Amino acid sequence: MRTIEHIYIDGRFVVPHGRELFDLHNPATGEVIGRVRLGDGDDARAAIAAAKRALPQMTRTTKAERLQMLEALHAAMRKRVEELREAVLEEYGAPISRSVWMADYAAVSFMTAARVLADYPLEREIGSARVVMEPVGVAGLITPWNSNAGFICNKLAYAIAAGCTAVVKPSEMSATQTEVVLRALHEAGLPAGVYNVINGHGADVGAAIAAHPDVAKISFTGSTAVGKAIVQASADSLKRVTLELGGKSPTIILDDADLDAVIPGVIEAGLLNSGQACIAGTRLLVSETLRPEFEVRLEAAIETRVKVGDPRDPSTTVGPMVSQLQWERVQRYIRLGLEEGARLLTGGEGRPERLGGYFVRPTVFTNVRNDMRIAREEIFGPVLSILSYRDEDDAVAIANDTTYGLSAYVFGDQARAERIAARLESGRVVINGAAHEPLAPFGGMKQSGLGRENGPFGLEAYLEPKTLLGVSPA
Ligand code: NAD
Repeated sequence: MRTIEHIYIDGRFVVPHGRELFDLHNPATGEVIGRVRLGDGDDARAAIAAAKRALPQMTRTTKAERLQMLEALHAAMRKRVEELREAVLEEYGAPISRSVWMADYAAVSFMTAARVLADYPLEREIGSARVVMEPVGVAGLITPWNSNAGFICNKLAYAIAAGCTAVVKPSEMSATQTEVVLRALHEAGLPAGVYNVINGHGADVGAAIAAHPDVAKISFTGSTAVGKAIVQASADSLKRVTLELGGKSPTIILDDADLDAVIPGVIEAGLLNSGQACIAGTRLLVSETLRPEFEVRLEAAIETRVKVGDPRDPSTTVGPMVSQLQWERVQRYIRLGLEEGARLLTGGEGRPERLGGYFVRPTVFTNVRNDMRIAREEIFGPVLSILSYRDEDDAVAIANDTTYGLSAYVFGDQARAERIAARLESGRVVINGAAHEPLAPFGGMKQSGLGRENGPFGLEAYLEPKTLLGVSPA
């Protein structure tokens, strides 16, 4: 069993001040697979100081130099993509196809950000003014466990593209993945202090970053509750804040939908990442007339198409929950659904047969009302709710009746689906299972977030426009 003993400050692997050793688990078995020594607030402050020292040099880099850095980071990550996939599999338990996707996404993030930077005008004339886009400063990047390596790389890629320096606070539960990423980034040979990485608890290291006056920007992905705490902590120094938070996304199935074609997409959106996805489509809105048939078909499909089990088995589609805590949380919601009067269509409490670890039975409730807690709160596990609607207006009203607004899915006739998409209060709407677009802005409306990541919008989140008046024309 290994212990990760260091954090990364000023271009060097260093032992943190923090003394706590935190256990890392394999969620498929529950076994402890390693430990990580956590940093503390003092480590966070040392990292911020290093990022501040590196900022003037980074700010002066040209677009071409930053493109070179991103290419070097991409090349270094590519060399470790297999190792990263192994770490994600072992430490997080994502099924193999998902682990491959996650490791690849982490590496590709640097190339995607490079493409965005290459096309982005950092200077432009607006009327009589010249507007120059300058890096915002030291960026604090805070990530959750459900895509830790991917979010570290994606946030860092855009921060570096903009010319910022960074302090990263990864999820303490994902230290093995962080370690692989860190080794790769170090091999890319960027100047010391451009990025610094501190393993540690949120209330300690994360809070120190969120409150520090030398941090100009926070990019946070995680829960809505912590997002609000970050806004409060950062208010004193009026940081620029990007928040990617929770969701309770609706999947609207129109009454003209061909269920054979649609149900695989409904399951894919609902059980994405074993249900531990902010964009999971967990509220299934089905027309009253279609509901009886939909229930029969969905139940059959869950029982035949969805395979819970060993993440290394290529036929597995749903892996374990990340931790015992998360397993218990999902169990509580399943009990709550029954107490609230929803009808269990399939699944339920407990573990699937023959599985230990933190596995949950994929669960579908029906007869769910939108005022039940299982329809309002983010469960973050493979638990879906079927709600019925009368007509399009009713479907839109139920879909929008949530404090969240991250993602939505519509299946059915293209023209009707587009009409509904226009009325949904959601940062993105996916029509008939369309593919993800990495250059499009990603983020939530309402309490699902603030600002956007990815593409030109994501780059601008790390830039400040400076207006120059009276300068000679270029
Ligand atoms: P979390 O909010 O508990 O933790 C996220 C990160 O914040 C961790 O690194 C944690 O240590 C840190 N943190 C905790 N308290 C902090 C504080 N007071 N100050 C600063 N940092 C602090 O979330 P989680 O359980 O790790 O992840 C699951 C959540 O993330 C879900 O709600 C999910 O919807 C959300 N999420 C959102 C997106 C998105 O893009 N919108 C993507 C993935 C996950």
